[in-house]
Amino acid sequence: MKKIAVMTSGGDSPGMNAAIRSIVRYAVSKGLEVLGIMRGYAGLLEDDFVPLNFSDVGGIMEKGGTILRTARCEEFKVDNIRKEAYEILKKRGIEGLVVIGGDGSLNGATLIANESEVKVVGIPASIDNDIHGTDMCIGVDTCLNTVVENIQKLKDTASSHERAFIVETMGRNCGYIALVAGLTTGSEAIIIPEVKIDYQSLADKLLAGRKRGKVNSIVVVAEGAASAYTVARHLENKTGYETRVTILGHVQRGGSPTVFDRLLASRLGAAAVQNLMNGESDVMVGLQSSGIATMKLSEVLENKKELDLSLYELANTLS
Ligand code: ADP
Repeated sequence: MKKIAVMTSGGDSPGMNAAIRSIVRYAVSKGLEVLGIMRGYAGLLEDDFVPLNFSDVGGIMEKGGTILRTARCEEFKVDNIRKEAYEILKKRGIEGLVVIGGDGSLNGATLIANESEVKVVGIPASIDNDIHGTDMCIGVDTCLNTVVENIQKLKDTASSHERAFIVETMGRNCGYIALVAGLTTGSEAIIIPEVKIDYQSLADKLLAGRKRGKVNSIVVVAEGAASAYTVARHLENKTGYETRVTILGHVQRGGSPTVFDRLLASRLGAAAVQNLMNGESDVMVGLQSSGIATMKLSEVLENKKELDLSLYELANTLS
């Protein structure tokens, strides 16, 4: 393999740049040529490519968003239009492609892998954390930190005024952001698409909390479960509390990626290129097995925790 391309597609998420940096630098260190495709599948169809060298991706690790920009491109779902994209990839001599994006983008990636000669590896990047096969998607941790920081601020004002706050997070079909943000801020209640809403028991919970002496009530609702305004209306009617709504919106997509996202993106970027070089295609690289386990203390104490020196090598390659 001599020449590969990389694109970011669909919803943006913090850490996409760290992944681009890793892909480019790892690939260059292995003697590959890398092209960036602007604006995902839309840029592919417009033949909008930029060469990416080692120094082109300097200083982007800490930047939110994506230097390659991103877009949604409905046309790419049409068979005949995709054929034009395959001609462009062929004309440019692209043998491997890395697609960084969410569920929709990975659907496009599998089509390219199956319908053209190009080998394709996907990298899961989505603040929703709704992709099977990886414990975490790139961007989730940064998004959660933003949400938690904001809920914490709302708690201050909620306590001062003894108000209930309904906080709406992103998450169309998946309640992960609302669930983890609610859990880690000690919010009163969490409303997610996966669990049916019962306004009466929600109201009872808020009333019981106030009886115990709580001075604020925070309810976190995922956008896909209900509108925060609807939740507020129901709860105000049932509890009589003064209620305020905060919709966090697109701030959840922005910001400098956290250490977790930078590390995940750096590891997945290099792994994606390595998979292409190994001849793999129609695959995704992801993070697995971060579950809670129980072990004997003797096992803990008799063994030494080793530093993962593959990260030392990766740091050298990417710097
Ligand atoms: P995300 O990747 O964040 O889930 P979308 O669902 O909007 O975002 O998908 C991003 C893009 O991926 C779409 O605009 C389209 O170009 C492409 N895509 C999504 N689904 C398909 C599909 N079934 N076939 C071909 N391309 C698709």
